[in-house]
Order: sequence, then structure tokens, then C-alpha cells
Amino acid sequence: MISELKKNISCEFLENKEDIYPYAYDTSVALNGVSLPYCVALPETIEDVQKIVKFAIKNNMVIIPRGAGTCHSAGCRVSNDKRKAIIIHFSKMNNIIEIDEKNLTAKVQPNVVLGDLQREIDKFNLFFPPDPSNLEVSTIGGAIALSSSGPRTFKYGQIKNYVLNLKIVNGEGEIVELAKDLRKNVTGFNLCDIFIGTEGTCGIVVEATLKLIPKPAKTKLILAYFKSIEEAGVCVTKILTSNVQPSTLDILDDKTLITIEKFNPTGLYTRYEAALLIELDGENESIQAESKKLQAVLESANAEKIVNTDDEATNENIWRARRSSFACCAKLAPNVVTEDIVVSTSKIPEMIKFIRALSQKYGIMACIMGHAGDGNIHPNFALDLENITQLTNFKKLKDELFKGALKMGGTLSGEHGIGMEKRKYLQDAINPKAHSYMLQIKQIFDPHNIFNPDKAI
Ligand SMILES: Cc1cc2nc3c(=O)[nH]c(=O)nc-3n(C[C@H](O)[C@H](O)[C@H](O)COP(=O)(O)OP(=O)(O)OC[C@H]3O[C@@H](n4cnc5c(N)ncnc54)[C@H](O)[C@@H]3O)c2cc1C
Repeated sequence: MISELKKNISCEFLENKEDIYPYAYDTSVALNGVSLPYCVALPETIEDVQKIVKFAIKNNMVIIPRGAGTCHSAGCRVSNDKRKAIIIHFSKMNNIIEIDEKNLTAKVQPNVVLGDLQREIDKFNLFFPPDPSNLEVSTIGGAIALSSSGPRTFKYGQIKNYVLNLKIVNGEGEIVELAKDLRKNVTGFNLCDIFIGTEGTCGIVVEATLKLIPKPAKTKLILAYFKSIEEAGVCVTKILTSNVQPSTLDILDDKTLITIEKFNPTGLYTRYEAALLIELDGENESIQAESKKLQAVLESANAEKIVNTDDEATNENIWRARRSSFACCAKLAPNVVTEDIVVSTSKIPEMIKFIRALSQKYGIMACIMGHAGDGNIHPNFALDLENITQLTNFKKLKDELFKGALKMGGTLSGEHGIGMEKRKYLQDAINPKAHSYMLQIKQIFDPHNIFNPDKAI
């Protein structure tokens, strides 16, 4: 079959075990082992992608699209589907096709890395707000498929607010343009919005037109430390109702602060139970005005220490430290598992206490952080999955965690997606009719069911 593939399609294929082995993994922890793909395709053109899809249909194979493979929910891994899997890795489709500074748009190939895009558009003083904390590796195709967001979602919205148009290859191997390169468009259904977040189950993003905005002139960072997580949680609600609009409102618990300082010392204070990391952006005058209001809110919410920084380099240092929290936690134990829960913002303290109780009950360390302004909490669990007791306990903890989140009116994911990891909780999380609509939509885009089986829905 591989020689047939190579005969028909001129791109590179990886087939040796040592070459395809890394593609059996993504950033998720393989609690039940991994399966190897049949091969990995490295297309260079949209036509290559079409040919691979048509080959897969003809030969009853499945296709798993892959960007940087940093998915936490096993969205890039090979499932138990009996058919042979071709992973399409887009590393050779990584060009910024066009930056249109007059219309404030960028047209990109799927493997453009978000950090690289930001650096390019910086030259035009433009801004692409979606910023997953791994923006130095995260690709646009992966981010669109996962509906990735990040700290700035709080002010600027999710990636779907910045995707104007998508060119996809569907499950028949056809190129379909889902919208137009326009900033406003209600001509028919919004298929881009439907496609974003489908985790590679409905088709392959081969080109995206993105909306850009003017880059904020300045940023100011405020770190507010609290004696207790409850007080930090109450402060989140106070900020939300204070008529101040920060660009980010993240929370870090004491274990996260301590762990960052241990492995990536940045000068964060570690003697408090929680910190809020707040960024203001805009013109100098508006930042000054908002900062004044915010200061008053923080003081009224019993912030024990407030640190303000205007200096861009210091701000970047703090953001680097914040982004390194996952990597720092990964140094605490052989494995780290990041979870992703959303609750209403007023329930953040309750959720954090619940996670702590589970962590204690099962003897598994949790460093908790998240995008508090969006009610999106990420506990990082540090553990040794080779230890059978920890593995068993973690499986129980995870079941209780998601059951608890749903009981609080929350949900299973705010940005990491469902993948294979959370499908078993899905029935309890979404309306059955809504679920059946999702399955029907998948069927329309992918009638032969070849794209990323056993993921997302
Ligand atoms: C340290 C760390 C921090 C993170 N922080 C954040 C965060 O703050 N916010 C956030 O939202 N996420 C975060 N993530 C999760 C994830 O890495 C991001 O969502 C990222 O944008 C995924 O991009 P990727 O290129 O790695 O996608 P991949 O992991 O390669 O793919 C993700 C999904 O998209 C599909 N896919 C990939 N390319 C395509 C394509 N061209 N067409 C169709 N489907 C495709 C895959 O099949 C898979 O289902 C983080 C991950 C790590 C490791």
C-alpha cells in the first residue's frame, strides 16, 4: 500500500517504525497505551492533501491531521479503529501567504506557528489576539481545529472571532471554501464557526484567512496576591462587575507559584495562597485610568500585595514564567496531566477547593491555574503513571473531577477539546439532540467517516 501511495502522490512519507513512533503520541498522557499509524504523510500542496484523502477513501483508511501535536486530549493519537491510519503532518505547509495591511487580514497555510505569525504582523503594528500558552509551537490548523484560546480570550474572544474564511479538504477529497475573505458575512449559515473546534473530524484546514486588529500601544501587568483562594475568587467577580476591562485575568495558586519559582525563578511571591495575573492594554491614558479603578477594586478585595509593571521586558518575563507553568510542573514527577474545566466565574473558589479535596483524597499533587475571567480552570496533576496505585487513583480522580464539574453546571473543556480522553463524559455534558446534530454534521462533511475517528463527539 505504501508503494502505491508513493507512486500516486509525490510528497514525502514516513514509514519506518522509528520515524512514525513519535507520531503515536501527542501531549496527552497515554493512560491505556498507544497505537502506531500506518504511515505519516508530509504534503506540500493542497493537491497532495486531496490525493491522500482520495487514496484513504479508496483503500478504507483513516486520516489524522496533525500540527505541532501539543493536544492535551489525545486528538492526534491513533484510536482503536480497525482501519490503517495515515497521519498528515503539515510541517511543509507553513507559509504566510499574504498579510493584507489595508484590509487587516492574513492568509496562512495550516502549519504557520502562532508566535511566528505575531512576529510577522508586528512589522505592520497589527495583532492576532488568540494566544495559547504554547504559541511558540502551536499551529494555526491545530488551533482552529481545537478552537484554542488563551489568557487574552477574556477581552478579545476566541480564535473563532478571528477566522474569516477557511479552505478545507472535505471527506470526498474536494476543496471547499466555507466563507469569504470579508470581515462581515451573514450570507447563509456560518460554516466557519461550525467547523472551528471539530478537532479534525470534519475535514482538513488547508488555508485560513484571519482577521487582524491594531496592536495595543502599551500593556501594563498587575500581579495581585491574596491570603486565600476564596478572596482571589471573590476579587475575580469584583473585577468582572467593576466596569474595567483587562485583557487577561488569570489565577495561579500557591503550588503553581512555588513550582514556577523552583524551576524558572522570576521573582514571583510564593508565600500567598493565590495570585491574579491581570493585564491592561491600550493607550497610555486609558491604561492609567483603568489601572486606578483596578487598584481600588483590588484593595477593596483584600489583595495583600499588588505589583505593577509597565516595562515591556519585565511583562514578557512574567508571561514567560506563566507560560512555563506546565513545563515546571512536568519537573515535579515523571508525568503531568493537564485538565481543562469550565465553571461559571462565581464558582471558581468552589471548583478550586473541590480539586484540592480530590488531590488530597487520591494523594496526587495538583498545581492549579487558569483563565479566571472565563471560568476556565487548568489543574496540572503531577504523578507517576508507572505506579499502579497512582494510575488507578488518577483514573478515579478524573472521573470525579468531571462529574463534579458537570454537577456545578460547568463543562468538560474550554480550550483543550474532547479528543479521545473525554469522550466517555460527553453523554452527560451535552443535550442528546444537540449531540445527534453534531454527528449528522460530521456525516455531511465526512460521508466515508475517514477523518479522526473516535474523537471529539
Ligand atoms: C504547554 C501547553 C500549553 C497550552 N496552553 C493552551 C492555552 O493556553 N490555550 C489553549 O487553547 N490550548 C492550550 N494548549 C493546548 C494546545 O496545544 C493548543 O490548543 C494548540 O493550539 C494546538 O495546536 P497544535 O498545532 O499543537 O495542534 P495539534 O495538537 O497538532 O492538533 C490538535 C487537533 O487539531 C487537529 N488538526 C491539526 N491540524 C489540523 C488541520 N490542518 N486541519 C484539521 N484538523 C487539524 C488534530 O487532529 C487534533 O485533533 C496548550 C498545550 C501545551 C502543551
